[in-house]
Amino acid sequence: MESVELYNIELNLDTEKKTFRGIEKIIGIANGSIALDSVGLSISSLKINGKDCQFNIDNEKQELRVNGNFSGKIELDIVFNGKVSDSLNGLYYSDTKSGPFFSSQFEATGARYTFPCIDNPAYKAEFSITMDIPRDFEAISNMPEERITENGQRKTIKFMKTPKMSTYLVYIGAGHYDVGRGDYNGKPVYLITSKGNMKDSSIPIEMAKGSLKFYEEYFGINYQLPKLHLIAVPEFAFGAMENWGAITFREVLLNLDGSSSASAIKNADEVIAHELAHQWFGNLVTMKWWNDLWLNESFATFMSFKSADARHKEWNVFDDFIISQTSGALHGDSLRKTHPIDVEVKNPNEIAQIFDEISYGKGGSILRMIEAYAGESAFRDGVRNHLKKNSFSNAIGNDLWTAIEKASGKDISNVMSAWIKTPGYPIITAKKSGDRIHLSQKKFRLDGSSDDTIWPIPLTVIRSGSKKESILFNKNEMDIDGKDFLRFNENHTGFYRVNYEGDLLQHVLSKKDSMNSFDKWGILSDAFAALVSGASNFNTYKNILTSFSKDEEYTVINEIIGQLSELRLVIQNKEKIMPLGKEYFSYHQKRLGDKKNGEPANISILRGRVNLALVHFDSEFAKELDKKFKDYDKIDPNLRMAVSTAHAIATNDSESLVESMKRQNNDEDRVKLISSMGWLKGENNYNRIMELVKSQQIKKQDSRTFFVTASRNPDTRKNIANDMDSLLALFRKYYGGTGYESRFIESVIPYVGLTDKAKIDDFVNRNKSPDINQGIEKGVEELTIYQKLNERIK
Ligand SMILES: [Zn+2]
Repeated sequence: MESVELYNIELNLDTEKKTFRGIEKIIGIANGSIALDSVGLSISSLKINGKDCQFNIDNEKQELRVNGNFSGKIELDIVFNGKVSDSLNGLYYSDTKSGPFFSSQFEATGARYTFPCIDNPAYKAEFSITMDIPRDFEAISNMPEERITENGQRKTIKFMKTPKMSTYLVYIGAGHYDVGRGDYNGKPVYLITSKGNMKDSSIPIEMAKGSLKFYEEYFGINYQLPKLHLIAVPEFAFGAMENWGAITFREVLLNLDGSSSASAIKNADEVIAHELAHQWFGNLVTMKWWNDLWLNESFATFMSFKSADARHKEWNVFDDFIISQTSGALHGDSLRKTHPIDVEVKNPNEIAQIFDEISYGKGGSILRMIEAYAGESAFRDGVRNHLKKNSFSNAIGNDLWTAIEKASGKDISNVMSAWIKTPGYPIITAKKSGDRIHLSQKKFRLDGSSDDTIWPIPLTVIRSGSKKESILFNKNEMDIDGKDFLRFNENHTGFYRVNYEGDLLQHVLSKKDSMNSFDKWGILSDAFAALVSGASNFNTYKNILTSFSKDEEYTVINEIIGQLSELRLVIQNKEKIMPLGKEYFSYHQKRLGDKKNGEPANISILRGRVNLALVHFDSEFAKELDKKFKDYDKIDPNLRMAVSTAHAIATNDSESLVESMKRQNNDEDRVKLISSMGWLKGENNYNRIMELVKSQQIKKQDSRTFFVTASRNPDTRKNIANDMDSLLALFRKYYGGTGYESRFIESVIPYVGLTDKAKIDDFVNRNKSPDINQGIEKGVEELTIYQKLNERIK
C-alpha cells in the first residue's frame, strides 16, 4: 500500500481464555498488490471496498497477502482472532493477585501480533481504538476515553482518535488498576499500577511533570496529547516503553516511596525523563526506518540526562552518564563484532538485536560530543527547527545534522556521518617531542588489533590557566604546541581514548589537582582498556590505579569498583587482584562510615557499592556485614544489596534469602535478593533457585538477574555451562522477539567459558541462529580477550 490514513480497531478481549477477536477497518491508498504484516492471527474474513477477497498467509514473511491489484482509496475490513501472548512481546498478560494484567509491547515489530497492519514506522496513520472487556475491568490506550457503553457483563470503551503516529507506539492495556492522579497545565497525568500495588504516586508523577516542563521549554513545542499515563507493568522485558500518551514501565521504576534507595530514585527519574523525551523525539518526529533507531534512543538517552541535570544539579548526573552510557559503549564498540551506529537492518531479528549499548550509549555520547562542538544553544536551535519541520512525520539522521549545521555554521554533517557510519572509535597516541606534542590516531580494539580508519575528531586541548583549544583532528598525524599542556578531552565529551606515552603520562598524572571528575575517569578508563588490550602491562596499570587510590570522586570510585570487580571475576591469579581490592575498598568503606542525615544521594549510593565490592574481596568483612541481615527490612535501602550478598557469601543459606524475598513488597528489594542468590554455592542451592524461576515465584523479567550473577560466580559457572540449552529455551520463551535472549547469551559466555570452554564451544557450534548470533559472536570474542589477559597476568 502507498499509505494508510486510519486504523479503526475494535478488540474484544476474553480475559479468561486469554484470546481476542478483532474487527478492523483500514482506510488507505493502494497502488498495486496489498501485503499487511500479520503473525499468529487467524483471519476469518477480509473485504475490500465491501467485497470478499481471497488472501494468503505467508508465515515466514509474517505477511497477509491479498490476491489481486488495487489502486486509489480503499477500505479494508478484516475480522480476525488471536491469542494473548504469555511471553513479553505483542499483547501479553502477567498474572497478579488481582487477576490478569494485559499490556502491549509493540516496539519493534509486535503490533502485527495483535492486528494486521503496515508495521513500518514510516506508515503513520490515525488510530481509532475500541476495547470490549468485562465490566469489572478497566482499559487504557494512547488517547482518553470518548465513550463507555455498558452491556450486561461487558463494557465497550471507545477511545478518542490519535494524531498520526507509527504502529509501534500504539498501546492497549486492560486490568484491575490502582490509579494516582496529578495535573500538568490542565492535562491529567495518571499513575497506574495493578490493584494493591500503589505506593506514593506523587513521586513519579512529580518527576514526569518536571521533565514535561523541561522539554516543553527546551523543544519549544508543547506535549501534544490530552493526557499522559505512566503504567507500572508487573512483567516487562525492557525497562520502559514510550507508547504515545501511555508509557509502560517496570514496576520498580514507579513503585517508589520513602524507603526507596537513592539509586532507585535517580534511576526512575532518568527512565521517566527518557520516555518523556521520546514523546517529542520518536513519537512526534519518528525515524523513517529502524536503521535510524539510534536517533530515537541516543537522543532520548542524552536528553534524559539534560533534563535531570537541569532539575537536580546536586546529582551530577553527567557523572552517571559517563559511567553508565559512555563506558559501556566504549567497551562494546571496541569489539570486532560491533556495528556502526547507523546499521542496515531488514528483518525483526536484526531489528531486535540493535537495542544495545551502541544505539543508546554510543549514540548518546556522540550527541554529547556534537553538542560540545556545535555549542549548546546552536544544538538546541537545530533540534527545535528539526522537530517543528518534521512534526507528525518521519525524518532521517541527516535532517537533524543539517538543522544543527545551519544553526551553528559548523561542518556538522560530515563529522556526524563519519562517526555514525564507521564502527569502532579511535585512540590518540600523544608523545612529547621537544616543545611540541606529536599526535597520531588509529582504531582502538580490545583484542589489540587496529586498522587505518581516520575519524574527524573534535579534539579539545586543555592548558593551564583555564585555556583550551578546539581542533578538528581529521588526519593521520599532527603536532600541537606543548606549552602549558595539561591533557586532552575537556569533560570527556569526545568519544575516543588517549594513550599518553612515556614522560607525557607522568606529566599528565602530576597535574591531578587540576582534573575534574570526567578527566580522572578518562585516565582510569583508558588505563584499564590498555591493560585488557595488551598495550600496557599490569604494573603500569596498577601504578595508575594506585595513584587514584585515595581519590574521593564519584566517577573514580565507581570506575575502580567496575575494574577490580571485573579482574576478580576473570583473572585466575588471585594474588595479583585480591589484596589490591581489599586494601582499596577497606579504605573507602571506613572513610564513608555510617549514613549521615542529610548526606548527598551520591554518597549513600557510593557507600552501598563500596560495601558490596568489599564483601567479595574480604570474607571477614562479609561475616561482619552479615550481622545486619536479621534487620534487613530496617537498614538503609542503599546498603541492602551489600548486606544480602554478604549473607549469601558468609552463610551460603538459600532458605533465608528466599524467605526474605517472599516477604518483600516491592521489586527493588526482591531483585537485590535475587541477585544475591547468584552468589550462593553448590548444586543444591542452584537447583533451589531454579525451582523458583520455573514456578515463576521469581518473575520472568527478573530471572535473568539470577542467571547473569550465577554466570559470574566461579562456583556456579559449571551449572550454567551444563544448563545452557535449557536456559536458551527458557529465555526464548520469556523474551522471544525482544532481543534479550541474544544479550543474555552475550553476557554469560565470557565468564562461563573461562571455566568450561569445551561446553561453551559445543553450545556455540550447535546454536548458531539469527536471533542470537550477535550475542554469540560478541560473547566468544570477549571470552578470547579474557583468556589472553589471563595468560599475560600470571
Ligand atoms: Zn528509548
